[in-house]
Amino acid sequence: RVTVDDIVAWMLRFDERIAAEAGRLTALDSAIGDADHGTNIARGTGAVRKRLADDPPDDAGALLKSSGMAIVSTVGGASGSLYGTLFLEMARSVGPTPELDTAELADAFRAGVAGVVARGRAEPGDKTMVDALQPAADALSAAAAGGRPIVESLREAAAAAALGRDATIPLVARKGRASYLGERGADHLDPGATSAAILVQALADARS
Ligand code: ADP
Ligand code: MG
Ligand code: MG
Repeated sequence: RVTVDDIVAWMLRFDERIAAEAGRLTALDSAIGDADHGTNIARGTGAVRKRLADDPPDDAGALLKSSGMAIVSTVGGASGSLYGTLFLEMARSVGPTPELDTAELADAFRAGVAGVVARGRAEPGDKTMVDALQPAADALSAAAAGGRPIVESLREAAAAAALGRDATIPLVARKGRASYLGERGADHLDPGATSAAILVQALADARS
């Protein structure tokens, strides 16, 4: 099971890892974008941390919604509305519940990723955060459907996200600013896929 406390731990761990990696994320974005991904996402996760400290929600849906709103309202870049959508669609999927089982978490994450795809219109292979998020959602759903324990399921999702992230290196971007570079954007890790792998790893860490 995943409780409200686990989701709070996920968000705090995400913020901690993003704060630690912000410089590297911005360096990745300086190669194929506009050198702000680390600052953008760190501003968002910092706002989530503050929101949770000031006004801790008592159900999973409210918590995810509050986190999504904090990100949408503080992050200007493309990644802000996409990560915001991920959390807001997860919130809509779970509703006002104190805890989720593995299948409910997998369904919620799948709904969140579907929201990102619907909003950004990126498919796997377009060199975006979807390259890490979609395989993670698929792995989590498969593990949940197979009745695997939650810790193991989340570990598999994190491994799938990391593989998807690394697979962005040779790709030519078809969405986002990196797509303006055409072939010159190849041979670089996508910053959003990198932060998305951190998000999924943070969830695995929070529940390990
Ligand atoms: P911006 O490009 O507005 O400066 P960020 O630098 O914060 O925003 O985020 C860039 C990341 O956002 C990219 O590395 C990519 O992973 C992701 N991204 C951009 N456009 C899309 C999209 N249409 N769908 C999914 N992800 C996208
Ligand atoms: Mg950028
Ligand atoms: Mg920008």
